[in-house]
Order: sequence, then C-alpha cells, then structure tokens
Amino acid sequence: MKSKLLDQHVLLRHRDVDNIHRLDVYLAHGGYEALKKALNQMQPGEVTDEVKASGLRGRGGAGFPTGVKWGFIPKDISPRYVVVNADESEPGTFKDREIMESNPHQLIEGIALCAYAVGAETAYIYGRGEFRTLFTTTLQQAVDEAYAKGFLGQNILDTDFSLDLYLHLGAGAYICGEETALLNSLEGWLGQPRSRPPFPAVAGLYAKPTVINNVETLANVPPIIAHGADWYRQFGTDKSPGTKIFCLSGRVNQPGNYELPLGMPIRTLIEECGDGIIGGKAVKGILPAGASSAIMGGDKLDTPMDYESMAGAGSMLGSASFIILDETSDAVWAAEKNIKFFKHESCGKCSPCREGTHWLAGVYRKLREGRGSKQDIELLNTIIDQMEGNCFCLLGEFVVPGVRTSLELFKDEYESLAREENEVEKPAQNLVHALL
Ligand code: SF4
Repeated sequence: MKSKLLDQHVLLRHRDVDNIHRLDVYLAHGGYEALKKALNQMQPGEVTDEVKASGLRGRGGAGFPTGVKWGFIPKDISPRYVVVNADESEPGTFKDREIMESNPHQLIEGIALCAYAVGAETAYIYGRGEFRTLFTTTLQQAVDEAYAKGFLGQNILDTDFSLDLYLHLGAGAYICGEETALLNSLEGWLGQPRSRPPFPAVAGLYAKPTVINNVETLANVPPIIAHGADWYRQFGTDKSPGTKIFCLSGRVNQPGNYELPLGMPIRTLIEECGDGIIGGKAVKGILPAGASSAIMGGDKLDTPMDYESMAGAGSMLGSASFIILDETSDAVWAAEKNIKFFKHESCGKCSPCREGTHWLAGVYRKLREGRGSKQDIELLNTIIDQMEGNCFCLLGEFVVPGVRTSLELFKDEYESLAREENEVEKPAQNLVHALL
C-alpha cells in the first residue's frame, strides 16, 4: 500500500516500482547512481559531510546522528569494518525485513557508500536467525548480482575502492540487536553485551574501528547522496529530518509499514494509514517503540512522531513500532506479555535484569490468575525501582518505563485483579509462588 502522505516513497520504493529487488529494475530507476557519483566526484569525507548535513539519525532506535557516528571512525587504524544491524527483534517492528525482502539493492548501495566514507573494505549484514529464508534467497541473490555487475568486490566501478559483503545469521536473540552483543555473536562468542568504553567506533569487530548501522538507516543514504542533503531536509522537521517507516500493529484496521515524513501526528498514522481502530473503538494506549517504550495514553494522539516530541510526551520514538491498544484491550495482559518477552530474552549477564524480569513475570502471573493482592502491585513498583539504573545494558532498562506507565495509566485494571489481603496467601508464600 502506497503511503497516502508521500508523492513517492524514499525507502519503500518497491511499492512504486515493481520488481525493484532485481538489479536490472533497480538500475533502470536510478540504482547505484549515488555510488557512481560518490566514487567519481566525491572524496570519502565529503560523503560523510553530506550525510551529516542531511541530519539523518539512526533508525534502529537511538536516533544518533549517522554522519557524526561515521566521523568517529579513526582514519589511521586498519582494517575498518561496516556492520549492518539486521537483528530486527523488537515486538511490533517489521520494517527492515520489508526493505531487505523488497528493495535489497538500496541497502547494499547504502552499505557501499558507508564503507567508502569510512574506508572499510569488509562489511557484514548480521540478521536474526529467523531471517534464514530471506538471507539465503533474496538477499544473497542481490549480493551475488551486485558482485557480478561490479558494485561489490575488487575495484568497484574501476576505482581503487574495494568491498566484500558477507551475510551472517545469528541464532535469533533479541539481545544481539544491542551492538556490542551483536559484535560478540559475529565473532563467534556468546551474544552478550560488552562494557563500554571502548566504543565500537574505536574497538569494535575484532577490536578494530567499526560502524554499526541499522538497515533502514543505510537505506536512506543512496537518496541523500543522489539528491543532496537539502532535498532530504524537505521532509520531516528541523531536528528530525527525512522520512521514516512506521510499523503499525495492534487494534487497527490496516496494520502494516507506512513511510511518512517525521513529525506527523500519531493520529495520522492510526486514522489515515491504519484506517482507524477496529469497530470504531477509542484508543486506550500507544506503545510507540514496541515493548521497550513508556506507554502513552489515548489523549496523546496529536503528538508529532519525531524524536524530540515523543521524548517530550514522556516516551520515545525508538524504531517507531507503534502497537495500539483500544478500549477493549486488557492492559495487564498486554504488560504481562511484554514482561514474558523480556524474561525470555534477558541474556542473564546481570542480576537486576535476569532476576528482575523473572520476578516481574511471576507477580504478573499471580495477578492475572487472581492470586494477587494490592501488595503485589506494590511489589511490581519495588522491582522496577530496583532495576532502574542498575542493569548492564538497555534491555533491562527498557523494561522499566513500560511497567511504570502501565501501572500509572491503568491503575484501576490492576486493582480490579487484586484480592483483599485476607483472601490471598501469606507474603512468604507469595514470594515462593512468584518464583514458580
Ligand atoms: Fe543481559 Fe543485563 Fe542486558 Fe539484561 S540488562 S540483557 S541480563 S546484560
């Protein structure tokens, strides 16, 4: 479905151009022109400068300026690497998969431009294990085509620039979307986060300078280089320029990926793109960054979807995976589902996350099974207070705002599940049950 709010897609171009996953079709529609322009007319530093000027921010969740990140790579240490984070695992996020399935050459061209800018001759696309079919068919075919036509390999387009691109599948772990856990996994170690510093820009893959960018981030680079930073800045806001793919799911009539300029209100995504809420019900809650975000109430529909406005509204844009709850949704059930996910995906390296998610899951189960009391609701607050600021990486920290805002926004639903103290087991027994 074509976005109703863009004349032409920037990232989801396959919706305007059939079969753009094939190299001949991609070339017929301006494919690899940006790479030709960069290699023939621009110094590597100029490519970085153009990306900086565009204001492109990382689309994996953090929103860090992409060109600034590239600028951190030291030029006097070799080899340097480009690693593409395709471990798309956040609940409600399915945008990178669509790019790789339907428009893989735009990603490959973006990787080549990034590698040229930072002086890397080796790049990897690291994907979650569940992408096996995609990685072994469409994406591998696109890489093979790019090699065959001289867009990858030695002396690309008869220049001094060479680049080898490898596809690598992980085992399907959410934590491997954290960039240092990804690097560990890529090196063959357990996928657990590393201490920082040193940061990957200085000591990343095999302890060498490494740029790690998300799939969607790099797919933005060819149009930026082809058309220029000013063209890109016509979309979006001053501080959040460009277009973004918004993943919409939950209680809407038309879930899916929608490419919009950053800064559009949430209402537009739900009502115009998603065709409203099923059965015309009211919006009760919005999870704008999947399971990892603070929940926004239905009164926040006019919040602009950009990095600053979402933070100002008490949540975050993250990877823009909007999960919508309506007035029929069970908020405690939804919170429990998220906690089960985090408990399953906690890598176990640090106790606040390993134990905290385990305890939260147990208390949620008690409440949902009608065995909980108001004391258990307090216990949820105590657990997240103890987790906050004490987890080794952001996976554990991301648990906290979802639970806290769920407790604040849907207090009545929690209390309706809690029985009186004299009707439930003694606290000591509660603790044992919580662990079962
Ligand atoms: Fe692993 Fe700790 Fe990160 Fe949780 S917070 S994923 S246990 S390192």
